[in-house]
Amino acid sequence: MKVVVVGGGIIGCAAAFELAKAGCAVTLVERSTPGAEASGAAAGVLSALAETTVTHYSHLALASWRLYPSVAEELRERTGIDVEYVTRGTIYPLGNASDVRRGEARSRLEWNRQLGIEAWDVAEIRQREPALSPGIRGAMFVRGDHWVNNQRLTIAYAQAAVGAGVLIRANSPVSRVIVDDGYARGVIADDERLEADRVVMAAGAWTGELAASFGSRLPVEPRRGQMVALTHVPPVLTHCVHADNVYLVPRPSGELLIGATVERVGFQRAVTAAGMAGLLSAATRLVPALADLPIARTWCGFRPWAVDGLPVIGPWPGVENLFVATAHFRNGILLAPITARLMTAWLLQGRPSLDIEDFLPDRFFKERTP
Ligand SMILES: Cc1cc2nc3c(=O)[nH]c(=O)nc-3n(C[C@H](O)[C@H](O)[C@H](O)COP(=O)(O)OP(=O)(O)OC[C@H]3O[C@@H](n4cnc5c(N)ncnc54)[C@H](O)[C@@H]3O)c2cc1C
Repeated sequence: MKVVVVGGGIIGCAAAFELAKAGCAVTLVERSTPGAEASGAAAGVLSALAETTVTHYSHLALASWRLYPSVAEELRERTGIDVEYVTRGTIYPLGNASDVRRGEARSRLEWNRQLGIEAWDVAEIRQREPALSPGIRGAMFVRGDHWVNNQRLTIAYAQAAVGAGVLIRANSPVSRVIVDDGYARGVIADDERLEADRVVMAAGAWTGELAASFGSRLPVEPRRGQMVALTHVPPVLTHCVHADNVYLVPRPSGELLIGATVERVGFQRAVTAAGMAGLLSAATRLVPALADLPIARTWCGFRPWAVDGLPVIGPWPGVENLFVATAHFRNGILLAPITARLMTAWLLQGRPSLDIEDFLPDRFFKERTP
């Protein structure tokens, strides 16, 4: 089966890799280079607690989170790339006594036990992460929150895909998905027609533009995220720390990442004074010693966001052989392994391996039908 995947972010690279392993002849078309956009800009936090209010989302998140140890190992074996998979857990500071009680109650829930949730009091915080502000009176610790180096991970997926037989066409913008008589036939890339039996649209925040190229619509738009990295010398943190408005990620590479804004500003590619001021003041309130560390770099990226905040994964309604995988918003790194497997099951067996009813693209089309 000939498959064209549009987009060389983590979603497209992971899907291309899994499809090639399953025997498909895959061409991945990327207008820039793999990992050039959101997948390179992310913080790489793998939080299986993500969006627990939507049950199916929790299942998806947990299923992907469980795949990570084997994904990291498989990619290392195939490419030699260490994706810096770290399993030290995240501290969620809690502001007041009632938050602390809620944290304790949560830690007793069976569901949360799978993730190793503990409630920490002040003494435990002082002992485990002494650099945290003395104002923090309690915390929820999630042992199961892990993190990776997402730039390395995306490149590892791309290299593994090439090793499995994928042809990557970089610097090659797709101007149109060819839809003919209700069937997807391929794409136009660099004025060249690339024929395919199946087309997968994984163009991140730009996937709506691809839908428009064949006269359809997808309500996916960018949500800008700004980040700043400090040189983590001397090191002050060993765990991830996640508060309401900021998170801190100590990387094995020697950087400490501070992220991230969530902004609705279209595709304005800019790191702003307000964005940096907000992140740095929130970070130094949490961990005062960060104020002395040098800034190593700043950047921004565009998360793909759908109007209901959920991923869009599955067959395109009304067009045979066309599929979409996008809108992973704040959790695309976490959700890449499971998304790639779901797409592979769908293309080859005609059905996904998990219940993903909530994420099908036809939800946007149903809404318009009275
Ligand atoms: C600051 C920030 C922090 C984040 N932190 C985390 C985190 O800690 N954990 C987590 O799980 N997620 C995080 N995310 C979210 C995560 O990065 C995204 O959900 C994920 O990277 C989306 O992957 P993608 O492949 O869909 O999109 P992208 O990585 O944006 O890839 C889409 C690709 O499609 C290409 N493309 C677009 N249009 C075309 C076209 N017409 N032709 C050819 N190619 C095209 C683009 O060049 C791009 O390379 C963060 C995001 C940001 C911005």
